Amino acid sequence: MQFIDLHRQYDQIDKKVKEGILDVLDHKRFIMGQEIKDLEARLAEYVGVKHAICCASGTDALIIPLMAYGIEKTDAIFVPSFTFFASAESVSIAGGTPVFVDCDKDTFNMSVESLKKSIEHVKKEGKLNLKGIVAVDLFGLPADFEAIREVADEYGLFILEDGAQGFGGCIGEKRACSFGDVASTSFFPAKPLGCYGDGGAIFTNDDEMAAKINSIHIHGQGTDKYDNIRLGLNSRLDTMQAVVLDAKLDIFEQELVMRNKVAQMYTEALKDVLDTPVVPEGCFSSWAQYTLKVREGQYREDIIEKLKRQGVPTAVYYPIPIHQSTAYADIIDEHIELPITESIANKVFSIPMHPYLEEDEIKYVCDAIKNSIE
Ligand SMILES: *Cc1c(COP(=O)(O)O)cnc(C)c1O
Repeated sequence: MQFIDLHRQYDQIDKKVKEGILDVLDHKRFIMGQEIKDLEARLAEYVGVKHAICCASGTDALIIPLMAYGIEKTDAIFVPSFTFFASAESVSIAGGTPVFVDCDKDTFNMSVESLKKSIEHVKKEGKLNLKGIVAVDLFGLPADFEAIREVADEYGLFILEDGAQGFGGCIGEKRACSFGDVASTSFFPAKPLGCYGDGGAIFTNDDEMAAKINSIHIHGQGTDKYDNIRLGLNSRLDTMQAVVLDAKLDIFEQELVMRNKVAQMYTEALKDVLDTPVVPEGCFSSWAQYTLKVREGQYREDIIEKLKRQGVPTAVYYPIPIHQSTAYADIIDEHIELPITESIANKVFSIPMHPYLEEDEIKYVCDAIKNSIE
């Protein structure tokens, strides 16, 4: 059994991918081919925003908008600590200062209460300017954007939605990557919508922001190709990856339904033995991960080991919260306390999740988990 099975998905898109890649080999516009423009239009329509701009990775898709905001060392950007490293790394690389925020004990997304506390703390200290929020759609579940937007408006902060895992998720009728002032996603192969290499995209309704992003992702280009108007990056999606993504978008909605069925079956079978994922009313997860939490008296490492022996792969997202990572050891406020984050980092583990899990496989995983807990 595989943690994420890309083989079964490939069988669905084989023909379209091969034909599309052959077309690219014929026209040879490997960079910025027409396929990129077509994909950007399709992505923008899917998410329900005005602009989608493809780039080289999900990490760049965070760095580029932060560069567009012109963040500086004295700017505080509030970021959850319980997320993939890039959510905070991008802030530092773009020149700002990440301020880490705790997560909600049930959804694992940014805690709005902790966010408010952090903001008030930074304000009181008076060393940093309040500038922005990176809100992550962790494991596929959109963050609590209604509440985050209220806080952002109150303090005049921008919201960058890190939708690397959330692409395809919804709150009501609105799709992930439409909630931030600007949003990013990743097309890393293991993400809900993945390509066959690195890739990412940036979303916004803001024309001025879109123009800056377009410029920054190609070396800060202006209208004259050789008169660059700002510093930027070389961060483009390859044309061949657009072919893969176009084929995968054809089956993406159907896959989301399948992922939700898998999640439902897991939850039904496991809710009495472990803490299963919480999806708030009105939200729809894209299930980038299905993450369980052990209860009092249960030992994660023990369960993981027993599952391994039964041939069930697991992964721990994330064993080390970012504020405790070596890279941030020197710059972290010693008094920072993120109790929920620090507690759940020792308790969570993720089990196989992809749209093509069969009923008997789901049952096998659930039985193996129950065996491991007895
Ligand atoms: C994967 C991921 C990223 C980075 O995406 P890459 O394409 O790997 O650079 C950023 N944020 C989150 C939450 C992620 O899961």
